[in-house]
Amino acid sequence: MENVEDGGPIGEKLQKTENGIGNIVASHYNKLEEKGIHHRKESRIYYMRNFNNFIKSMLIQEYVDRILNNKPEEEEKKFNVLDIGCGKGGDLLKWGKYPVKHMVGVDIADTSIQQCKERYNQYKSKQRGRPVFTSEFYAADCTKTDIKNLYSEPDIKFDIVSCQFAFHYCFESYSQAVTMLTNITANLKPGGFFVGTTPCAYEIMSRLKKNESKEVGNSVYKISFPEDCDLDPPAMFGAQYMFHLEGVVDCPEFLVYFPLFEELAKKFGLLLVSRERFGRYFDKKKTNPEAQNLMKRMSALEAYPSDDLMGDKEQYSYPESQLTDTMRTIGTMSIDEWEALNVYTVFAFKKLF
Ligand code: SAH
Repeated sequence: MENVEDGGPIGEKLQKTENGIGNIVASHYNKLEEKGIHHRKESRIYYMRNFNNFIKSMLIQEYVDRILNNKPEEEEKKFNVLDIGCGKGGDLLKWGKYPVKHMVGVDIADTSIQQCKERYNQYKSKQRGRPVFTSEFYAADCTKTDIKNLYSEPDIKFDIVSCQFAFHYCFESYSQAVTMLTNITANLKPGGFFVGTTPCAYEIMSRLKKNESKEVGNSVYKISFPEDCDLDPPAMFGAQYMFHLEGVVDCPEFLVYFPLFEELAKKFGLLLVSRERFGRYFDKKKTNPEAQNLMKRMSALEAYPSDDLMGDKEQYSYPESQLTDTMRTIGTMSIDEWEALNVYTVFAFKKLF
């Protein structure tokens, strides 16, 4: 994939400006093509992407259930959601399974917002008269803009705020993290939840240490810090690295040191209720029959053995060791994909006041 730092969509040089890396990030995501399901299947990380979607589905389900269960009897069993860094609307269908009343989506990449609106309209037209939640989508930098001024109803109250694979962009600076948390909490109801997924700084740092290098990765992902940066210890904000994920992401990101995130969130009335790396979160969910069903429908795992495995044969030593005479196949993933997705953590905060 083309590196966005080498040139923007109309050939201009895109570099970090005084205003930070927002323009590089927006340009990167704007340039990502909308690829059909068939193309996606050819991707080396087809199962990993499905798995990530499965994790998001489980997280959304868990906290939507809590919101609906906590609603008083007399209250309408519907809720409002804010999706920060909504991208092309990859989670619209996930939300569509629940009684969402209204959705607001915001993303820094205007082309993605355009595609998100189209995806919503397509979704709506497919519902053939069945009630569909209302929505509004905006292109804005959530680390620098007071986004509630954009909303059609600036006083709208959200039951849940979701920020999937996007929160880490605000750790560029303290003021950006504060603006992001202001946006997350300004309209979030007390008792509501802030849920998301983000890379885990502990895991990244421990992998670097093991590698005795400022770079770590495998055939599907690579994390690299500039050679001249001081990582002992890394900066609290602005600890920038390049994240490369095969065919999807090639973008500057920032370390999110979780204790700092948690401390800062507290000042905004957010109490951490759950934080787990993807692998462990999966382990907790995988025995649930409903989750197993969804896992199958979403093709979250690769069948082993198979003639067209995504990775090389040696990437599957674990499922090979687990196979028994009575098993025809086992659901699994190549080691490289598993390592890449385990960089990530799910988190959930509850708004106390
Ligand atoms: N949440 C979506 C997209 C994840 S990709 C999903 O899970 O599929 C990360 C998204 O964060 C991109 O769409 C990118 O444009 C957005 N993003 C990055 N920095 C941002 C910022 N400062 N403000 C708003 N969105 C941002």
